[in-house]
Amino acid sequence: MDKQRDFVLRTIEERGVKFVRLWFTDVIGTLKSVAIAPAEVEGAFAEGIGFDGSAIEGLTRTFESDLLAQPDPSTFQTLPWRGDVDPTARMFCDLTTPDGRPAVSDPRHVLRRALAKAADAGFTFYTHPEIEFYLLKSSQLGPDGPVPVDSAGYFDNVPGGTAHDFRRSAVRMLEDLGISVEYSHHEGGPGQNEIDLRYADALTTADNIMTFRTVVKEVAIEQGVYATFMPKPLNDHPGSGMHTHLSLFEGDANAFYEPGAEYQLSLTGRRFIAGLLRHANEIAAVTNQFVNSYKRLWGGDEAPSFVTWGHANRSALVRVPMYKPNKAQSTRVEYRGLDSAANPYLAYALILAAGLKGIEEEYELPPEAEDNVWSLSDAERRALGYTPLPASLDHALELMQDSELVAETLGEQVFNYVLLNKRKEWEAYRGQVTPFELKSNLGLL
Ligand code: GLN
Ligand code: MG
Ligand code: MG
Ligand code: MG
Repeated sequence: MDKQRDFVLRTIEERGVKFVRLWFTDVIGTLKSVAIAPAEVEGAFAEGIGFDGSAIEGLTRTFESDLLAQPDPSTFQTLPWRGDVDPTARMFCDLTTPDGRPAVSDPRHVLRRALAKAADAGFTFYTHPEIEFYLLKSSQLGPDGPVPVDSAGYFDNVPGGTAHDFRRSAVRMLEDLGISVEYSHHEGGPGQNEIDLRYADALTTADNIMTFRTVVKEVAIEQGVYATFMPKPLNDHPGSGMHTHLSLFEGDANAFYEPGAEYQLSLTGRRFIAGLLRHANEIAAVTNQFVNSYKRLWGGDEAPSFVTWGHANRSALVRVPMYKPNKAQSTRVEYRGLDSAANPYLAYALILAAGLKGIEEEYELPPEAEDNVWSLSDAERRALGYTPLPASLDHALELMQDSELVAETLGEQVFNYVLLNKRKEWEAYRGQVTPFELKSNLGLL
């Protein structure tokens, strides 16, 4: 720890860093930042930097508002988009109360606590996200809504297109920030892109996702376009998911790997999937936290709508992807429910808790779905036991409200805050008369 701090202080000096941004995330998943002068960094390591937690979504109640941001030196990076003149660096922070206890409302702490529970059971949790987003010409709406930068589709190579240059700049910037990218490509919708990060422990991944969103927004500004992680910006095109590949390791051994087993998936892996399935609906208000998230889940185009698992099956909520025979490292589970607008700390904490519950309680994995779940009738799906994901944010909140697993994993304060904040969003939405209603009632459809 002290070595890392020394490294940070030395780097600041050697590279002439002029500003150090301290980053943390509110309960809804918005990145917060305060810049400090290099001379303050040593003090920040020793005592933290105080701020008014009550001014930030979900962090504190007004009568106990003081919080401290404690920079995590292992996350020190200079920010490439700020240039070489007067360089700016950043560190993610853990939040504490004035007496030094972790702030119960800090999403990073919620994930740390879930990871510690996994560690008690002997597991390290690794994640690898595939992040989808749209590039629009601007944040202004055209007559038909958002205006994408191109009309290309899945894996299209668009000569001279914005998306190509965009991905190149974004990937280079991510690499400069120490975030390895595995794949990047045009996705199915016009202007839709995907960038996949290399697997890392879940806390690093969640930090990386927050950095990723900032990088993508910055590169978009640089290129005169607008990037959005909104789950479903266009009526007739796919939404933006954040499928995440998950694995548990025991030391160097992949706990999901069993040579010779079906899909080389161990009993631990099967139970983990069973946990994901059993708890998917009660965690949905966090993995899919916006009114708009449910437009994606029920909008078709390879977003999951039913609680099923499968192997090559892209209609399933949980998929066991192609694996490399006898390669332990590659055995993993893909959770396809998450969308690109989730708070990654809270979502990963709940996904992990759901999977671990399956292991602890030895849940039995139901048979895999072999069919395209969307092509079945309601009756057929019912007969096969394929339950639907929540139909709306309202429905998801009802399910979350009764969930012991979610209350325990988020802790009382975050749990109550999410319910309160999201209920408000639902009520505001419910009060809207939408263009759809107007058009259909006025005979304009
Ligand atoms: N866009 C789809 C989703 O929302 C995923 C498409 C894909 O990656 N195959 O989940
Ligand atoms: Mg992909
Ligand atoms: Mg994709
Ligand atoms: Mg995928």
